[in-house]
Amino acid sequence: MSERTILYIEDNYLNRRLMRKILESQGYKVLEAEDGLKGFEMLSQLRPPLVLLDIGLPGMDGLDIAERAKADESLRHIPLIAVTASAMRGDRERFLAAGCDDYLSKPIQTNELLEKLNQLYPTEVVEE
Ligand code: MN
Repeated sequence: MSERTILYIEDNYLNRRLMRKILESQGYKVLEAEDGLKGFEMLSQLRPPLVLLDIGLPGMDGLDIAERAKADESLRHIPLIAVTASAMRGDRERFLAAGCDDYLSKPIQTNELLEKLNQLYPTEVVEE
């Protein structure tokens, strides 16, 4: 993948549209999956450099996706950022325990999002 690519697994259309707008304005290419099964399939087949992951998803939820990805040697290096409105006490720990590398809360704060991407996006991927 020569472009700066991010896979966003999210069932809500408005969230996908907003995220695409923000990320494309920063030069990222956005791949989208609207349910968990499709998302995991894309993650394992395409092995994108970074994944943004909704937790509440039809098919397979975000925690299942994280657990399966981190149990797979060929996928576990891919950074997973959970993106969810869930803000109950202990949620962050639960996401991290499932294998997420970081966590962002909805509604998306553009600055916070871009900061996390700068931290977690693999630097060996050459920007063209
Ligand atoms: Mn959802």
